[in-house]
Amino acid sequence: MTRMTPLNRYRDIGIIAHVDAGKTTTTERILYYTGKGHKIGDVDAGNTTTDYMDQEQERGITITSAATTVFWNDHRINIIDTPGHIDFNIEVNRSLRVLDGAVVVFDGVAGVEPQSETNWRLADQYNVPRFCFVNKMDRDGADFLNCVSMISDRLEANPLVTQLPIGRYNDFVGIVDLTKMIALFYHNEELGATWDEVPIPSAEFDSRLADLGLIVEDTELLAKIDEYREKLLEEAAAVDETAMDDYCTNGTLSYEALIQCIRVGTIGGDFVPILCGAAYRNKGIQPLLDAVVDYLPDPTEVAAINTLNNDGEVIGTREASDDEPFSAIAFKIIEDRFGTLTFARVYSGTATKGTSIMNSTRGKKEKIGRIVEMHADERTDVDFICAGDIIAFLGLRETVTGDTLSDARRPCILEKMIFTDPVLDIAVEPKTKADQDKMSIALGKLAREDPSLRLTSDAETGQTIVSGMGELHLEVIVERMRREYKVDCNIGAPQVKFRETITGTVEHTHTRRKQTGGAGQYAKMKIIMEPAERGNGFEFINQVKGGNIPTEFIPAVKFGFEQAALEGVIAGYPMMDFTVTLVDGDAHDVDSSTMAFELAARDCFKEAARMAKPVLLEPIMKMDVITPNDYVGDVSGSINKRRGNILSQEMLGSGMCISALVPLSELFGYTTVLRSASQGRATSSAEFNRYEVVPQNILAKMQETTV
Ligand code: GDP
Repeated sequence: MTRMTPLNRYRDIGIIAHVDAGKTTTTERILYYTGKGHKIGDVDAGNTTTDYMDQEQERGITITSAATTVFWNDHRINIIDTPGHIDFNIEVNRSLRVLDGAVVVFDGVAGVEPQSETNWRLADQYNVPRFCFVNKMDRDGADFLNCVSMISDRLEANPLVTQLPIGRYNDFVGIVDLTKMIALFYHNEELGATWDEVPIPSAEFDSRLADLGLIVEDTELLAKIDEYREKLLEEAAAVDETAMDDYCTNGTLSYEALIQCIRVGTIGGDFVPILCGAAYRNKGIQPLLDAVVDYLPDPTEVAAINTLNNDGEVIGTREASDDEPFSAIAFKIIEDRFGTLTFARVYSGTATKGTSIMNSTRGKKEKIGRIVEMHADERTDVDFICAGDIIAFLGLRETVTGDTLSDARRPCILEKMIFTDPVLDIAVEPKTKADQDKMSIALGKLAREDPSLRLTSDAETGQTIVSGMGELHLEVIVERMRREYKVDCNIGAPQVKFRETITGTVEHTHTRRKQTGGAGQYAKMKIIMEPAERGNGFEFINQVKGGNIPTEFIPAVKFGFEQAALEGVIAGYPMMDFTVTLVDGDAHDVDSSTMAFELAARDCFKEAARMAKPVLLEPIMKMDVITPNDYVGDVSGSINKRRGNILSQEMLGSGMCISALVPLSELFGYTTVLRSASQGRATSSAEFNRYEVVPQNILAKMQETTV
């Protein structure tokens, strides 16, 4: 079997946006114009195609990344939907990993919002070539050039303006394409499917503007067109010597040469093209699709993916080619009524339905039953997949998000997933006996979809504990259980995951000597325990010389320390960020054993930790609140009241963005408080930032309430 679309006509891309910037509407319009969407779905009416989960539609945020395939100008565009909400940052991360390029959507009024900034920096981290789409140009207050300067100031990017809006607000009627030097005037009655192209400059262009009554107000448009066309040519030509010579000699570039330069510069990260439009008004989507094809890389134009050993070290690469052995990354798992859908990106090679592949992350074989290609909510069965494809396997059993699937004869690992530990727990309890089994099944499935979710059971109460990345994250999980799996449960109050650490250095010697008839127990050790920088975890250093503690007992000592660290010494929370150096010790030929050393290590550790000035740590969230100016005082007050530390206050087009560090334990229900204090106009988002010491007075209060 051979591939249908040549690899150089693939674009594996994502659409990245702050919540509400218009990603769903843009995707919806793309589906419509590429002929896959049946009708233009209106996000506000809650019937869009990519947001197919009920809850997403109700909340109006895209929680789950779904992938969809469309065709445009003989190119196959695979779109991976990325979630915009910061609580789901891990998903953004994961989807960025499997993209070759991205379209970043901005709200033309709000410009660069804090979350766009976070996502942008993540995209930088993964070297994702991208261009921007400044959306909502029809909204009152939309300001394209202001958005361009925010992209340059806030994101430290080099914007390359390739379009200019014609008219503004309600009179936003079309777009100047600075590459072709034409104006596009959209026909509203055709839902934007057709438009007139008018050359610039031309008498017709002038008269069109005059007809629209724009000429008077917008004579500056003509000047702007000249200015930005010149900038475009200059910046684009700078990426290629021949083009530069050409531009210097002739003062211009051919359309083909210009597009080629923009492509090279975009892929190379020299600049970021900026387009504009209004998805809701059906303007600017077709040029956006052209830009995906023209400016974003095909799978062979990005660096070949690294192959790793079990420690995550790079040991080689896999070229994007059908001739290499098969390899793919599972980037998303969705459990739905048809079974398990495992979304994967194929990096190299080919595979056929009915054959076996290896889950090389887990060393387990998987049989490829059905493979489906997703077109919004429609599925097409396919028998054969090849490099560049983004598809879903049906019914894989062993595979979890982040796993590599590869040819069993030439296995490789493409990914080492690092997930931050969850910071918040809730206890869930089924309402009835009948719900018990349903609940375990539901939670099991949800945890497979979302590796940032952890399940444990409380040893004392037997309750199931669900741990996640924040309040919204856990709320969504509980709601999904209720809605998708029809499980009713009682939810306990959210519990912050505290940690313990030490602040002092101690040297301590411990001897374990037990003589209870039969074999005795003897183990002696001297350790130095000292604090480490935040985020360093636990480091164990062995400095025992001359076999004073025989090497075979060293792992038991380390294990003993680890076990003791998990139990903590203040309130039973796991300890983090310290170093233990095993300096010396003593053993006995007969009475020493692995067990004796492990038990001695536990006691030694606890005694030392109690002396090393232990403290409690709490998770601190970085919170951004966006509020209209009227409420800035109230919002700042509410942050201060919550032990928050305001980092910055920045003017936005639409109000103020207040960034602060706030302890997670103070943030429960904050979104509701904020909403009612601002008549629903202020919004907040929070993301785990770091652990910090709980202040003494708060600790005292906490101890009072738990006594
Ligand atoms: P997402 O959260 O980024 O997926 O954003 P949505 O596509 O759900 O859009 C958020 C809101 O903005 C919805 O109410 C849309 O109707 C509206 N919207 C999207 N695009 C435009 C646009 O071009 N102009 C205007 N005025 N509103 C838009």
